[in-house]
This record gives sequence, C-alpha cells and structure tokens, in this order.
Amino acid sequence: MTIPVHDVVGIGFGPSNLALAVALEEEYGSGVNAVFFEKQPEFGWHRGMLIEGATMQVSFLKDLVTMRNPASPYTFLAYLQERGRLVDFINHKTMYPSRLEFHDYLEWVAASFTGLVRYGSEVVSVRPHDADTVEVVVKQGDELHTCLTRNLVIATGLDPVLPEGVQQGERVWHTEHLLHRLAGLEGREPGRFIVVGAGQSAAESVEHLHTRFPTAEVCAVFSRYGYSPADDSAFANRIFDPPAVDHFFTAPAEVKSMLLAYSRNTNYSVVDLDLIDELYRRAYAEKVQGVERLRILNASRLLGVREDPNGVQAEVQFLPTGEVSTLEADVIVYATGYRERNPFDLLGEAAAHCQVGPGGGPVVERDYRIATDAGFGCGIYLQGATQGTHGIASSLLSMTAVRTGEIVQSIARRSARVLEGAQS
Ligand SMILES: Cc1cc2nc3c(=O)[nH]c(=O)nc-3n(C[C@H](O)[C@H](O)[C@H](O)COP(=O)(O)OP(=O)(O)OC[C@H]3O[C@@H](n4cnc5c(N)ncnc54)[C@H](O)[C@@H]3O)c2cc1C
Repeated sequence: MTIPVHDVVGIGFGPSNLALAVALEEEYGSGVNAVFFEKQPEFGWHRGMLIEGATMQVSFLKDLVTMRNPASPYTFLAYLQERGRLVDFINHKTMYPSRLEFHDYLEWVAASFTGLVRYGSEVVSVRPHDADTVEVVVKQGDELHTCLTRNLVIATGLDPVLPEGVQQGERVWHTEHLLHRLAGLEGREPGRFIVVGAGQSAAESVEHLHTRFPTAEVCAVFSRYGYSPADDSAFANRIFDPPAVDHFFTAPAEVKSMLLAYSRNTNYSVVDLDLIDELYRRAYAEKVQGVERLRILNASRLLGVREDPNGVQAEVQFLPTGEVSTLEADVIVYATGYRERNPFDLLGEAAAHCQVGPGGGPVVERDYRIATDAGFGCGIYLQGATQGTHGIASSLLSMTAVRTGEIVQSIARRSARVLEGAQS
C-alpha cells in the first residue's frame, strides 16, 4: 500500500492551524494538498472555560485573518454579517466580544474546512522518511495510520500546569475542565469551593462559581495582596504588534528577558479591571449584608491538599504571620495556568534532524521553521512554543493571522527553491 504524501500536515486544529488552513486556501486556492489532525472529536476552543459572560482578551479585529487580509471572507465581521448580527454588534460598541460568540465564529470558519480535518485523530509520533519528507503517525481509535509530508506545522497548544505533586482527581480540578467537571456535579449543591490563583482564569472561575452556586462559599487563595489589573493600554499593547516580533527576534538574550519581564502584566497573573471591580463590588455588598460567601484569602499560600471521598482539606498559610489554617471544601480548582510544550516530545525520531537551542528546545528561525540539518529539506514549523524567540504573543491570538501568512510565504519560498533545484 502506498503512503499518501501531503504538501502540508498540521498537528492540532485550534485557532492557529485553523488560521493556517485559511491562509493556505487564500494563497493557493484548493491546489494545496493539506491535512490537519485534531485529537478532539469536533472543533473546540477551550470549551471547559466557555463561561457565560467571559469576554475576549483581544480585539475582534485580531481574528483569524483581518491583520493578514482584511478582505478575507473569514473575518469576524463577515461572520457577523452572515449570522445577521452586524448592526446589533455595531450598536453594542465593543471591541471585545464574548468568548462564546468568538467560539461560534471559530466554529463557523472551521465548518468551511471540514474536508481538510481529521477529528478524533491524535498524532503520536513523527519519523524521518527521506531527505524531504517525514512520516506522521496518527492514532484514530485503536488504529494507527501514517502519512508523509513535505511540511509539518505543529500547533498543539499549551500544557496545563499544576503545582508540584498535585494530581487532578474527583475533587481536584484544573480550570481547563471547569465546565465539564461542574456538569458532573449533577444537581449537588456544594458548600465551598477553593480557587487557587490570581490570573484571569482564576478570577473568572471565582465569579462563575459565586454566581452559579448561590449558597456556596467561594474562597480565592493567592499570594498577591490583591488581583492586579491587566495592562491593555495602547503603548503596552504594542508588544503584540507584528514589528515587535522582528525586534524581539533580533534582540540579545538579556534584552529578550527584559522585554518579557516588562510585558508580563499584559498577560500573566493579571485580570481585566472590570472583573476585578465586579468581584470587589460583590465582596463589599456581602460585607454590608453580613454574609460573606466570597472570601479573598490574599497573601496566602496553599501548603498541601488532602482529598477523600467527601471532600478536600487544604492547609492555607497566611504569609505575613505564617499562621496556618485548614479549609474544608467540596472542590479545589487550580487556576495555575499553562506552559509551553517541548516540540521534541512529539517529534520523536525526527528530532534527530533538528538543531537544539541552549534551553534544550529546538532552534527556531524567524519564519517559525525549526532549524534542521543542511541535507534535511522537510519544513517543520511551530505555532506557539516560541515565546523565547518570537516574544509574548506566541501562544496568543494577536499574531495568529500574520504568523500564518508568514508560514505560508515561507513554505511557498522553499517549495520554489526545491523546484528550482530540481530543474537545474
Ligand atoms: C480560557 C482561555 C482563554 C483564552 N483567551 C484568549 C484571548 O482572549 N486572547 C488571546 O489572545 N488568547 C487567549 N487564550 C490563549 C490561547 O492559547 C489562544 O487563544 C489559542 O487557543 C491558541 O491557539 P492554538 O491553536 O495555538 O492552541 P489551542 O487552542 O490550544 O489548540 C491546540 C489544538 O491541538 C490539539 N492537539 C494537541 N495535541 C495534539 C496531537 N498530538 N494530535 C492532534 N491534535 C492535538 C488540541 O486538542 C487543540 O485543539 C486563552 C486561553 C485560555 C485557556
């Protein structure tokens, strides 16, 4: 049996590779032989956190295409027009739609590319095949399939982080699965939740649990003194602009570290000011009423958690005094964020052809291609997992449209070079 050979194989079909599918179509029409493998059974963008009322952290103009091609038929505005809500959205006067609406937009775009995607298909390894192709091993149900490709684009997202030694369990959750796990409570009325963390997901979880369970106490535990606002002011936002990637990429290592440190409060452990105000409003109103369900355990650290069939017991230390208290709760939710995945974990044997950077990850070029041996012609590209080389926007949506355009151009440039080489 001959193994199919593709021009492009994408691993993962979240927003990054969805935007790539659009860019490929707009660059090549239907002439490109591409396929995307997605392990979820259908398209889904962080479904476990699709909390009603939660809004986007970027302008709708940073959709999958506008910054690359504002005339694309796949803009957020084109979506609104087709859904018959363009006028209503304009009257709404917001740049930040709800995540539910943005998810619907992403699904709407994804529906046009169903023919290119194999859902329920997890890529488990990649093997070198010959000088210009790699073999991609895909698990579908209990079966393994393989295909060959001249270009591989890895966009597998981030890994959820839990504190050292913590395992997810019946009552120990990461926000990644919040809504799915809550659905599993099936009519039970929990008495108390603990939410660990001080970032956007933590604050959203606290707000959601407090609203959804009107008799439950919600304890927010974090080491900061208070929630800190996300800096989305105009000059700070320029770190997410396309030229910032050029600046970051060429900067010396110490300047890169400095820029990342300066920009942290645009994205990490920070919360939208409106949400901070809303949580404070609730906490204050409860103080007035004398029944405090929303408890902010600030300047505090979780020392340990024990889980048993009836609940969890958490040891919480108030850092200024060192005093330790035990909190009993029905569920503890870790809003402890995500970290980049090392692409070598997926690349398996193909990693042998990739150059290794000082941190143990691959060397990544400006066009998002992993630097490979001179004789190895297969293009292996990364979307995400490039914060160290391309800056803070790497795992966010801001650069997605432009980045996918750059990857498509790089593939086109290299294919032309391969063709020229073959002719001469
Ligand atoms: C709750 C939440 C809200 C966010 N909101 C924003 C926001 O408002 N603005 C912003 O800029 N960023 C936001 N982010 C950041 C987020 O990383 C990006 O929005 C976006 O998801 C990045 O897209 P992606 O396609 O690179 O990764 P993902 O969306 O994570 O998609 C990766 C896909 O790859 C699939 N996959 C993984 N491994 C394999 C494999 N081996 N084989 C096959 N498939 C695989 C996964 O199932 C997944 O569908 C948010 C993140 C979270 C968690």
